[in-house]
Amino acid sequence: MPFTLPALPYPENALEPSIDALTMNIHRTKHHQAYVDNLNKALEGHADLQSKSIEEICASVATMPDAIKAAVRNNGGGHYNHSMFWMWMAPAGQGGEPSAALTASINKSFGSMDEFKAKLADAGMKRFGSGWSWLIQKHDGALQIISTPNQDNPLMNGLVETLGTPLLGVDVWEHAYYLKYQNRRADYLKSWWSVVNWNEVNKRFKASI
Ligand code: MN
Repeated sequence: MPFTLPALPYPENALEPSIDALTMNIHRTKHHQAYVDNLNKALEGHADLQSKSIEEICASVATMPDAIKAAVRNNGGGHYNHSMFWMWMAPAGQGGEPSAALTASINKSFGSMDEFKAKLADAGMKRFGSGWSWLIQKHDGALQIISTPNQDNPLMNGLVETLGTPLLGVDVWEHAYYLKYQNRRADYLKSWWSVVNWNEVNKRFKASI
């Protein structure tokens, strides 16, 4: 069992009212746990893969044996994406602010912080069905907003069109918001900004430049 559900760095109700406690509980202990369990199951008997980090697993999905490729893509992606998602959120008022360097880079790439937020939300709104909306830093240093279907992510070399380091990502699967927001994905995305953990985004931006 190489992969485990990470501890949540805040109580399940700490993101209310943006994200309700029941959604957090089901999302993490049922959905995320299932990705972890199914990833471990797919990797049974593959000692070489079991010793890799989840980032390495995601980056090398395309070259995995056909028998486990789809399971690792879906569940390895699900484990990485959700592990990061919990870190990318913090109780309102505790997530800090975008650093001066990150703000400058966002302004240069998207015009302003407001335009960046609108574009990230728009990418999430335009994702038909289930997926994620991301702010990534491409390998040439440029910031870009992309969306991926299902549990794909920008680490998946050979499977995803645009690769890069995820600086921030938001889950737009219905399971992320349906209990509180029902069909109102736009309202969820709007409220989500109040629980973004900019401290984590700043840290990842600093590490990737
Ligand atoms: Mn999810």
